[in-house]
Amino acid sequence: MKILFASSEAYPLVKTGGLADVAGALPVALTQSGHDIRLIVPAYPQVLHTARDITLLTPLGELISGHPGQLLAARMPDSDLRLILVECPTLFERTGGPYSGADGMDWPDNHLRFAFFSMAAALVAGGATGAGWSADILHANDWQTGLAPAYLRFLGAPNTRAVFTIHNMRYQGLFPPEVMAELELPRIAFNIEGLEFHGQLSMLKAGLAFADRITTVSPTYAEEILRPEFAYGMEGLLNARRRDLTGVLNGIDEAAWNPGTDRNLPETYGLDDLSGKAACKSTLQRELGLAADPDAPLFSMVTRLTEQKGIDLVVSIIPQLVELGAQVAVLGAGDAHWEYVLRTLPVAADRMVARLGYDEALAHRFIAGADMFLMPSRFEPCGLTQMYAMRYGTLPVVRRTGGLADTVSEAGFIPARGSSGTGFLFDESSPEALFEAAAKGVDMFADKRAWRLAQSHAMQQDFSWARAADEYAWIYKVLAPHSAANEKKTRGEAA
Ligand code: ADP
Repeated sequence: MKILFASSEAYPLVKTGGLADVAGALPVALTQSGHDIRLIVPAYPQVLHTARDITLLTPLGELISGHPGQLLAARMPDSDLRLILVECPTLFERTGGPYSGADGMDWPDNHLRFAFFSMAAALVAGGATGAGWSADILHANDWQTGLAPAYLRFLGAPNTRAVFTIHNMRYQGLFPPEVMAELELPRIAFNIEGLEFHGQLSMLKAGLAFADRITTVSPTYAEEILRPEFAYGMEGLLNARRRDLTGVLNGIDEAAWNPGTDRNLPETYGLDDLSGKAACKSTLQRELGLAADPDAPLFSMVTRLTEQKGIDLVVSIIPQLVELGAQVAVLGAGDAHWEYVLRTLPVAADRMVARLGYDEALAHRFIAGADMFLMPSRFEPCGLTQMYAMRYGTLPVVRRTGGLADTVSEAGFIPARGSSGTGFLFDESSPEALFEAAAKGVDMFADKRAWRLAQSHAMQQDFSWARAADEYAWIYKVLAPHSAANEKKTRGEAA
């Protein structure tokens, strides 16, 4: 099958969060199972700098008035994955992040940037460019590519179907209705069955309304988003489409996140010998100025600083954790308020440390060096860091929601059966509930045998992309216009 995977970020080209990890790994896993897959991404400067073998594919002209562009062919720096880069200097060639400038403010022309990108993806998938390739499946992701299924629909590409994956319902790509005039979509698309959302234009809704199939990144989140508290007003549409909605749990990049080969660590380690993990802990304690104490349970957190991730809950329990003899290390970037709160917390510097900023290598050391990993998210579509933590023998403390509920099981020591489970869970989004779960972890940490067993369970979980790729391949297969399932359906209808 031929698949075009459209994403506004992809590791290692450009990354702000989990979407990049998925877009970097899932297409590679699908290639390994024999599919012809191409990843299409905007040609931001960091992408042009990192991709290899870049050549001109075809000019695109002004898909959006005043913004000429072209398609480039390239390859990922670290794999043979084929890339299609959407180059448009007026929209993508600027210093800053993919969605916002250095001042943290969204780019004011994001509607044009992602409309251009989405239209380019739809044109490539539908075979309407000089790229010499078309796709059976256009797989779009999150609001930035939500318009791609809409463009595909209005383009009229009978041989291409659209899958839309929700990585996070919270970000909806909302714009004032006036921008509709600039997006080269028929006026009719702006209605309650299409892009219109309470008088505004929602790019996320475009994906949900126009894709043939919707997926999200964990089975539990697929159920949660049918409820108002998780769906932010999209629950009606999602319930109407629930038969087309599936949850497929993300995998993790097991090469990048492997304690046995990780070059970011002072020492590597594996299931059979955890001495390297002890070295990671002591080096991290030294690096961060924490007391050099192997017996102090060390909690870490690596996160975007937003309330989604429950940073407020963590901040509230830090003094209590420290009183229990624990240490806490937070690596986070994002909300200036939480950066300030973390910087000024009145807790002894040898017990609690916050590192502010985005640092990939440090993230690896935080995850490897800690004993437990805090992830008390209010909602979590899938979450990757709890899976990284388990792989590194660092037991996660998580709220039972979304992908956290699907990946972490309660660790407990039963004398007759040994230990089962891989982490510590709680339900209510409150500091008390989080503290209770973390304190269970501290208790178990004191019991070296139970701890070792739980670590070993955690490290043996299968979070490979191969499993997720199989599930996606099945979804594509059923959907593809020339699939056996569809041809049978068509024959049945004709008879
Ligand atoms: P989300 O996509 O909601 O931010 P995930 O757990 O799915 O959450 O993915 C987050 C990814 O971003 C992980 O790879 C994590 O290691 C990384 N990450 C988050 N914050 C930081 C940070 N401050 N420094 C380095 N890496 C970070």
